[in-house]
Amino acid sequence: MKHKIGLLITLGLILVVALWNPCLVQASSELSILDYSAEIDFPVKIIFEVSARSDVDIDDIRLHYRINRTELARITSEVYIEFTPSKTVSIDWVWDMRKTGGLPPGSSLYYWWTVTDADGDSVQTPPVEMLVSDKRYDWQELTEGEITLYWYKGDDSFSGELMAAAQEALARLYVETGAELEKPVSIYIYASSADLQGSMIFPQEWTGGVAFTRYGIITIGIGTSSGDMEWGKRAIAHELTHLVIHQITLNPYNDLPVWLDEGLAMNTEGELLWYFMDELNKARENGTFFSVRSLASPFPTDTNEALLSYAQSYELVKFLIDEYGQEKMFELLSTFREGAGYDEALNRVYNFDMDGLDARWRAAFEAMVIL
Ligand SMILES: [Zn+2]
Repeated sequence: MKHKIGLLITLGLILVVALWNPCLVQASSELSILDYSAEIDFPVKIIFEVSARSDVDIDDIRLHYRINRTELARITSEVYIEFTPSKTVSIDWVWDMRKTGGLPPGSSLYYWWTVTDADGDSVQTPPVEMLVSDKRYDWQELTEGEITLYWYKGDDSFSGELMAAAQEALARLYVETGAELEKPVSIYIYASSADLQGSMIFPQEWTGGVAFTRYGIITIGIGTSSGDMEWGKRAIAHELTHLVIHQITLNPYNDLPVWLDEGLAMNTEGELLWYFMDELNKARENGTFFSVRSLASPFPTDTNEALLSYAQSYELVKFLIDEYGQEKMFELLSTFREGAGYDEALNRVYNFDMDGLDARWRAAFEAMVIL
């Protein structure tokens, strides 16, 4: 991304000012930005470069950038560049993502420079859009409706099967909750979880998929073996649900309770897998269920406790959908969009709070026969 900018002549402007007020007469500087560019070293850094010249010292250079993502307020970042004032400058600034957190592949940002000299003259480059792409792989692309899949390993039947799973997940989510995608989504399929982790700044070992909900981007690691495919289809359904639900409930006041967010994602995946069932049965025998109130906060990190948290969230959401239907669930999500608190939203839609849900769900679950 290279841009050349012609000489900016400010003489005309200064003559006009001089006519208005002769005291302001000053030597006009010939300030211009000669060149600027940006290069990404995904996922760790972006290197921005600019060079400029004037007939007096250039003493102020700033980089501005704005990331393209859903924001509740428009945010522009401004970076003051440290340098020694001079008539000719050529500088670079490195955005080190290890300090700020990374950007997902497929995201983009606008950036522009302002350069000011000792005469107080200033020039600005037009905003340039920069794509944050992971060029380490040769991506193929498949679009259907609002979903675009990107992948680099596996044939057309691999991507076709994953696309079908994504479309089915959207359809199932709509039937159960009335929720639909509001904006297009890009899904980047890495060939393994190791490749996926290579796209992240601080990957956790267990990371298999990530929904960047404000960017409309999902990244996921799926191998081509049949076991990987089965896992991958569920993982796509799961992350896609997070993305849709976050799109339609975004508000500046409140997050969703975690049990609702994860429970919806688990429901779109399909039937609960056996190891989640095991934890549910154990908790039922030992009377060790978590309260709905505690499941509103982030889940425990202990493996068995985490499994039980996900399993219980699945059951809670399934209970709400089975007992009260799609319209009520949509109403609940719409109430959360308005920024309602956890108890308040449940009360408004179902006439019971988190403790009420707890009691109703436990009674129904205890009465259920598990085979
Ligand atoms: Zn999740």
